[in-house]
Amino acid sequence: MRRRTQVAIVGAGPAGLLLANVLIAAGVDCVVVEHRSREHVQTRARAGFLEQRTVDCLRRHGLCAGLDAAAARHVRCEFRSERRSFVVDYGELAGGRAHWVYPQQLLVRDLVQSLVSRGGDVRFSHAVERVEGVDSDAPLLVCRSAAGETLEISCEIVAGCDGARGISCQALAGGGAQAIERRYPFGWLTVLAEADPPPAHIVYAMHADGFAAHVPRTPEVSRFYLQCAAGDTASDWPAERVWAQLRRRLSPHGAAELTPGRILEQGVLAMRSSVTAPMQHGRLYLAGDAAHVLTPCGAKGMNLAIADADALARSLVARLRDGDGEQLDGYGARRLPDVWRSQEFSDWLLHLLHEPLAGTAVDYERRLRAARLEQLEHSPSFAQTFARRYVG
Ligand code: FAD
Repeated sequence: MRRRTQVAIVGAGPAGLLLANVLIAAGVDCVVVEHRSREHVQTRARAGFLEQRTVDCLRRHGLCAGLDAAAARHVRCEFRSERRSFVVDYGELAGGRAHWVYPQQLLVRDLVQSLVSRGGDVRFSHAVERVEGVDSDAPLLVCRSAAGETLEISCEIVAGCDGARGISCQALAGGGAQAIERRYPFGWLTVLAEADPPPAHIVYAMHADGFAAHVPRTPEVSRFYLQCAAGDTASDWPAERVWAQLRRRLSPHGAAELTPGRILEQGVLAMRSSVTAPMQHGRLYLAGDAAHVLTPCGAKGMNLAIADADALARSLVARLRDGDGEQLDGYGARRLPDVWRSQEFSDWLLHLLHEPLAGTAVDYERRLRAARLEQLEHSPSFAQTFARRYVG
């Protein structure tokens, strides 16, 4: 089967779906090709913290109805250690800006529904096997459905929104793009579970056994993170060990103890960050995790993905509808400073929260961490800078 379109979008994550919604609303034809089923992408739990700018962007494009009905506004976070605990009211410090807690799978569901109702063409259960001809005027996606049928999509532009392990980034490497990467010497066990009590705000705990976090998702379900050894697998963490370590790290000096609940999902994240540049070559443009991966620390990944998609959508509409190609030429270069600011913040927070590993000047690192925490608690200007960068 063949299909011709203006923009072929690889991947129906937040980046690809936001892009498609904006293009369709502006009268630019596009097709989204997604490897997984609709059911799979609408139930895949990952992110949950939306920055204020992300919500502003969704509202601008009329994509906020689900979020307005169900998202919770969050403006505080707590830092807990064996010595002291304090709460940062980052909403107030950032002049009233806030995070909105709304599970990624619900946002994806909303974006799919909206796209379908706007007449958008999404091909679920189709994998893009090859991206060809991005140096020519007529790029081609070669796709295969789960039933084994071939679909070829010829287009003017390819948008690579296929996440961290996608095919688009490899196609870009052919044009000389390079990934700059950092791997951290520890992992994060990530657990989605019912929790009692639910947190009033995000809790970051710093403990001699390692970092832990309790992150709100819905009134019943929380996400937990536990610093673990690099190379650990989920089977190294039976439920009793998970709950024992969460209680130990999250409940120093009188903080309410957690009651173990049902674990819904558990896995180990290899902690790595990377940025691919340039983010474009020929007629191929990357957005979201396809171009840059962050650790979940600081909750920046999905927010950056949506900011990329918004900027790419604007540039594509200028080129394909209004005949102005200048914005599109500068798309990647305009996005990279924001990408690197987010990378820097995420790395800074990671270093603040993590127990230094043996052999890394442990005492020195611990004292640096204490100095940073002391400023966060007592220096209004330091706390304000943190707040503005955290909330986005
Ligand atoms: P993705 O969501 O990865 O979407 C890419 C899509 O492309 C996928 O659906 C995939 O199936 C599809 N695809 C891949 N290859 C192909 C192919 N060959 N053909 C067709 N389709 C293909 N970020 C935040 O901002 N805040 C948070 O609180 C946060 N918490 C997180 C917690 C966890 C545990 C994890 C894992 C991540 C978290 N993130 C968070 C990061 C966030 O989930 C990602 O940054 C976000 O999903 C990126 O969106 P994307 O659209 O770029 O890519």
